[in-house]
Amino acid sequence: MFGENLITTTQNLSGRESMTKNSAGKPQETELFDQLPSPASEPWISARDLPELNSAICQCMKCSLGESRTKFVFGVGNPDASLLIIGEAPGADEDRQGEPFVGRAGQLLNKILEAIQFRREDVFICNILKCRPPNNRAPVAEEVEQCIPYLRKQISLVRPKVILCLGLVAAGHLLGSRESLSRLRGKVHSYENTPVMVTYHPAALLRNPNWKRPAWEDVQAVRKLHDELVAQSSAKE
Ligand code: SF4
Repeated sequence: MFGENLITTTQNLSGRESMTKNSAGKPQETELFDQLPSPASEPWISARDLPELNSAICQCMKCSLGESRTKFVFGVGNPDASLLIIGEAPGADEDRQGEPFVGRAGQLLNKILEAIQFRREDVFICNILKCRPPNNRAPVAEEVEQCIPYLRKQISLVRPKVILCLGLVAAGHLLGSRESLSRLRGKVHSYENTPVMVTYHPAALLRNPNWKRPAWEDVQAVRKLHDELVAQSSAKE
C-alpha cells in the first residue's frame, strides 16, 4: 500500500522542515542528513585571511593523507600576490619542511620566477593537495575532492590577477578539464573570471630538459598577461 512507506513533511519548532517517521520505523531522511558534516558549518569557510584559514585547516584529517603527513603544507608567499602558482602536492622535502616547492623542483621554480622578474616572495605558491601522497603518487579523486575547497578559498582570499598551473594535475583539477597538457598550454583559460595559464611542472622539466624551451615561452606569456592586467587595473583606479 502507498500509505505504509509514505514520508510526510512537517515544520519543527525552529521552522526547519523535517521528515516524520514512517510506519516501518526506519531512520528518516533528516536524521540521516543530520549525521553528515555540513560544509556550510565548517569554520574555515568564513576565514577572513590566509593565517585564519591556515589555523582552521592545518589539523585536517578529511582524507587518509592526514595520518601519513609529517607537516601540513598550506602555501607560502605574498597574501596579496598578483600571481598565484599552483602545483600538485607536497613531495618529501615539502612534507619535512611544511613549505611548497623547496626541493630541486622548487629551486628550479625560483630560477624560472627570477627569469621573468618575480621574486618568490612576490607570488603566492600552493598545491592542489596540502598533504603528501605516499611515494609521491598522483592524488586520487577522493583526496582532491576533500582538499580542493581549501585551494578555492585561498584563491578567493588572495584574489590574484593571474593563476599559473604547474603540470596537468593542477590544471586538470582547477579547470575541471581532461585535456592533455599540450592542449592546455599556450591558451588563457578562466577560473571564476581569473585568467589561468598552464605550463610544465618543474619536476617534469628536471626529467626532460627538452621542455624547458616551451616552458620559457609559457612563463614569458604569463608575465606579459600579468603586466597587461596590472596596468589595466591601475588605469581604472
Ligand atoms: S590532503 Fe587535504 S583533505 Fe587530505 S588530510 Fe590533507 S588537508 Fe585534509
